[in-house]
Amino acid sequence: MSKAKKKKIKVIYRKLAREKAWGVAWHDHDIIEIDSRLSKKPLLSTLVHESLHISNQSLSESTVLRMEKIIADILWRQGYRKVDQ
Ligand SMILES: [Zn+2]
Repeated sequence: MSKAKKKKIKVIYRKLAREKAWGVAWHDHDIIEIDSRLSKKPLLSTLVHESLHISNQSLSESTVLRMEKIIADILWRQGYRKVDQ
């Protein structure tokens, strides 16, 4: 019996230029990169978006966009956002 190892996705914040996107999901490396210049609402939205991609590679971009909008809106209205540390 195989032991299903729970993978921890690492989130890295940096300025994305070459990528021409606010976020990138690297499936093979379990890494999400997010542009560090994003303000709080688009940051939450982009994080949800890339989390959906990395959770299920077979989701289409339009499905991810639709789910992103719904989930990010729910989380935002419940007060979830990145805190300044
Ligand atoms: Zn996407």
